[in-house]
Amino acid sequence: MVRVKKLSDKIVYLCGICGLGYSDQETAKKCEEWCKKTGTCSIEITKKAIYFPS
Ligand SMILES: [Zn+2]
Repeated sequence: MVRVKKLSDKIVYLCGICGLGYSDQETAKKCEEWCKKTGTCSIEITKKAIYFPS
């Protein structure tokens, strides 16, 4: 499930599997589908990430 996280100045959509955050839900969904299917992250998708869990 894509999760929504509110930061102080913006909202990010988090991939439910790897936890990376994106500015749009569509990309977060793509990341999640990819993570689920392959068990790894796609560089093509993760380069769009704007939030990285610590
Ligand atoms: Zn992911």
